[in-house]
Amino acid sequence: MTLQLKIPEKYAVGKGCDADRSLGDLLLRTEMSTKGNTSRLPKEYMGISDEELVRRIGEAKAKLGAKLVILGHHYQRDEIIRWADFRGDSFKLARHAASHPEAEAIVFCGVHFMAETADILAAPHQRVILPNLSAGCSMADMAPTEDVLQCWDDLQAMAGVKGKVIPVTYMNSTAALKAFCGANGGIVCTSSNAAAVVKWAFERGEKVLFFPDQHLGRNTGLKMGYGLDDMLVWDPFQPMGGNSEAAYRKTAFILWNGHCSVHKRFTVDQVNEARKRVPGVKILVHPECVHEVVGIADAVGSTEFIIQTVTDSPPGSAWAVGTEINLVKRLAQEQPDKLIFCLDPVICPCSTMYRVHPAYLAWVLEALVKGNVVNEIKVDGEVARWAKVALERMLATT
Ligand code: SF4
Repeated sequence: MTLQLKIPEKYAVGKGCDADRSLGDLLLRTEMSTKGNTSRLPKEYMGISDEELVRRIGEAKAKLGAKLVILGHHYQRDEIIRWADFRGDSFKLARHAASHPEAEAIVFCGVHFMAETADILAAPHQRVILPNLSAGCSMADMAPTEDVLQCWDDLQAMAGVKGKVIPVTYMNSTAALKAFCGANGGIVCTSSNAAAVVKWAFERGEKVLFFPDQHLGRNTGLKMGYGLDDMLVWDPFQPMGGNSEAAYRKTAFILWNGHCSVHKRFTVDQVNEARKRVPGVKILVHPECVHEVVGIADAVGSTEFIIQTVTDSPPGSAWAVGTEINLVKRLAQEQPDKLIFCLDPVICPCSTMYRVHPAYLAWVLEALVKGNVVNEIKVDGEVARWAKVALERMLATT
């Protein structure tokens, strides 16, 4: 027997933000009028009906066959996910690309840093394509290279700090930041292995400089038994990051002042409200959420962990999930015998992930059929080399 559970009206997905249609259309129009956008969609791809896009994408994909692999991040909309040969989080997808050398073209339906990682791990003959070049990640953009280098120079100029700091960057960061970590004895982490990676860093230094998500850094430190008073936030808009030299000498964690605009929205009030409205509901959140929310959740973990936890739960279970709405909505659709809803009743999708509209996918695939590569992501030699060093350290550690 299949249980059909009704989501309380307040938590119906898409409330307050029409995640299904309006944002995609708005972005298509907006992008056509943005000067200097190198990813401008050719005019002939504007205004194509949904049915026609489905037909054209399907036709192009069939013509390209095994020479093409399409990767779809879990936060992509359904109209894109339906074409993905593989679904996953960013690192899992990048590894898929590397394990399919027969694919000459890798179309990464995600955001910029993900396509960069795929290019770093891919074979030299593979071309990585991001359908819309303006699909970035606001969190990755919060740690620009010049600010990172300024921070590093400041820390290295402090007696008692110099030589003691190991840089660690979350996968959700630019290739340049990964390369910085690789070149300075540091490492990359994911949301699943952050604690093991930070342990690795503390075996090599006395302090960890964690980029770019302060929340993942803080939650990882707390999980490892450190206290909030073992952590400082480096604010790149303040001289010396906003703290005294004495404070840096004392601290164990220096957390970059970055955050994910999607996961930062979840609050303690939302957790309390969900528990009040749905007795027995389990709260399941991503570690990019603030520590106050993580601290009272029933379970915390990466995107893959969230999917697995919900999937493994018995029929009739109820889950309030603190992560991106496209994934939550898909979990709810695919598992109708459970009550699955987003912790934030008015949440919008990751707006940059949403920039990959099917019209962009049709454009890049039809270009490939004609022998043209558009919107290629290529990481420069030295940057790729050092970023790979940081990634390989992670692989050897976890
Ligand atoms: S969900 Fe957050 S971390 Fe992921 S791409 Fe969007 S802004 Fe970046």
